[in-house]
Amino acid sequence: MANSRLKAVEKAFEHQPIVATPPAPATSEYYGCMVFDRKNMRGYLSSDIRRAIYESIEQGKTLDRDVAEQVAAGMKRWAMDMGATHCTHWFQPLTGGTAEKHDSFADPYGKGESIEVFSGKQLCQQEPDASSFPSGGLRNTFEARGYTAWDPSSPAFILGDCLCIPTVFISYTGEALDFKTPLLKSDSAVSKAAADLLAYFGIKNDPVSSYLGWEQEYFLVDSELYAQRPDLIMAERTLIGHNSARNQQLDDHYFGSIPPRVVEFMKDLEFECYKLGIPVKTRHNEVAPNQFEIAPVYEKSNLAIDHNLLLMSLMRSIAERHGFKVLLHEKPFEGVNGSGKHCNWSLATDSGIGLMSPGKNSTENLRFLCFMANTLKAVYDNNALLKACVMTATNAHRLGANEAPPAIISSFLGEQVSKAFEELLSSEDMVEISDKRGFSLGIPQIPQLLLDNTDRNRTSPFAFTGNRFEFRAVGSSANCSSAITVLNTIMAHQLKVFKAAVDARIAKGEKPLKAILDETRETYRSAQTICFDGNGYSDDWKKEAKKRGLDCETSPPLCFDSYLSSQSVMVYSEAGVMTEEELEARTEIKWEIYCKKIDIEVRILADLTENHILPVATRYENVLLDNVTKMKAIFSEEEFRTIADSEIATIRDIALHMNEARKLIIEMEDTADKAAASKDARKRAVAYHDKVVPFLDNVRKHVDALEMIVDDEMWPLPKYRELLFIR
Ligand code: ADP
Ligand code: MG
Repeated sequence: MANSRLKAVEKAFEHQPIVATPPAPATSEYYGCMVFDRKNMRGYLSSDIRRAIYESIEQGKTLDRDVAEQVAAGMKRWAMDMGATHCTHWFQPLTGGTAEKHDSFADPYGKGESIEVFSGKQLCQQEPDASSFPSGGLRNTFEARGYTAWDPSSPAFILGDCLCIPTVFISYTGEALDFKTPLLKSDSAVSKAAADLLAYFGIKNDPVSSYLGWEQEYFLVDSELYAQRPDLIMAERTLIGHNSARNQQLDDHYFGSIPPRVVEFMKDLEFECYKLGIPVKTRHNEVAPNQFEIAPVYEKSNLAIDHNLLLMSLMRSIAERHGFKVLLHEKPFEGVNGSGKHCNWSLATDSGIGLMSPGKNSTENLRFLCFMANTLKAVYDNNALLKACVMTATNAHRLGANEAPPAIISSFLGEQVSKAFEELLSSEDMVEISDKRGFSLGIPQIPQLLLDNTDRNRTSPFAFTGNRFEFRAVGSSANCSSAITVLNTIMAHQLKVFKAAVDARIAKGEKPLKAILDETRETYRSAQTICFDGNGYSDDWKKEAKKRGLDCETSPPLCFDSYLSSQSVMVYSEAGVMTEEELEARTEIKWEIYCKKIDIEVRILADLTENHILPVATRYENVLLDNVTKMKAIFSEEEFRTIADSEIATIRDIALHMNEARKLIIEMEDTADKAAASKDARKRAVAYHDKVVPFLDNVRKHVDALEMIVDDEMWPLPKYRELLFIR
């Protein structure tokens, strides 16, 4: 779309009426206009060059130098036509978020003149001076060499005045320094493993990919109130704050009508998303006050993840325009629900066959049960790793609290699929098979009804929902690559193991589909321990899960150990996704980030308490003391005793809480200093978790008690009731 047309569309959006008045520009008019996708390539690249690009995207073929030059030239012309003046490689370092370094197209060549330059080399590879990104020791910081390399499967786009080129970020020796590299490797591993198995079902030349539909939850708070909360600014969560009398107990926020100011924000956000081709589809209120959700239509997981990261950064800047701050932290407020990012994950072929969708005949249903059983087995064998990949200092507040999945990974299948598997287990003798007509016996029928699955278990961390699994333990601030990479990797490994077992049966003379049927049954039998349809929040489940041998660890630093278990190292290296060295580096970074997050919270809480809360509490204490002293002067001893005793008790309360808080803060900072002194990252993280974290709650108790006593007018921070209700 021409730039002038876009300007007109943007103008039309400037004054958004509450009730849309036609003619509002149709989304189709501007959808994807800022993306160098197939449609936009047509005007700027010859058909030969486009074909080469598509082959590179679809078949992973490397583009030769010449083609890259032409792509770069076309991309530059398009970007300049759309108003871009700069370009950047856009990548995903392990700090979280995205990184970019803008270079101008302008190339002043020294004779008082300048030309616009963007070469094939600039498109394909760059060497950002990225020495301060974490590498877990993989990259010698003195060398500082990390490379970004173009990922053609995620199209370039324009943000502001900058052409952004999605890239991977790797070290000089090829190790992954980002989230995207292992994700891409895991996707091709699972794609290959699934395709090999599909050949037995007669499906050939139909490439498989992993798909992801994320559901992003978030909070909005008023910018001005936010600015008065140092804890929100620095730690993105309230470290102190007494519950508001009303929060979510009335259940009146969930799916309620969205406040008009928030709707304006959402519309603006959607407009920007559509220009970037992010297929957002649903928006609604969530359970907690001020909590909302936005979800797109699912896409190939690499693209879906890039889109989620883009969305998170768009949300931040667009919220500002509307006087909001967006909070992506998993638990910004104590006592109200936290935020997650459900990851709906599935495998499907390019022609649209969903490998987690029930079929219409016996063979298709066998395929479905086969992929289901393999998923369950992969999750069962690697349940500790799956928890490790979603665990962070911030998500730990959510996992295991009574609102989100417990810190134990199990899977919920729903009644119909569970029944189908039970039938399969008891169908051992029904082995009459006709390859041509499909199965006459032995394959449970799964009703079509299943596709509209309403049979939900909200407490399950990994629930089957009709044509996909919904992994609910992922945190709202996370890069979902961590989770999807693990799912793809463990699935790739399991499918390979499964196929080897099937091949062994065939070698012994079993027919292929019969071999698959038998192996599916055995796979399910050995994995069914992971299935749990009951209440995942209950204490009984914790006991039961322990008995079943599922990982019940709740300490984040110890959960991270699972990345380095022999099982994980084997699965990762066999799937070709990450080496042991890369896993070690990543785990090191996880411990490191954990320590830093807790340490920041400690310093902020100490500062808040010492410099904001205690001085105010002292002032209020003095007001009461002054009052009591004056009362004592005018009332008789006896009268004074009867009318002043409760006020004196309050003074005592204040003094006690202040005294305790002060002592705890000194101890907390001391303990944190000691924890920080350890040279070993794992030991440091364990010390922060075991020794330092408990102080955060203990200090808070006293401060929150003071909040309930001290004069509201004096209280220096906005309270929950103000933060949580947008007017
Ligand atoms: P709910 O809140 O009921 O879980 P939503 O509509 O909010 O459902 O989100 C469901 C998400 O799952 C959407 O992003 C949707 O596109 C995605 N989804 C649907 N089918 C699949 C599939 N086969 N594979 C991956 N994601 C899917
Ligand atoms: Mg959901």
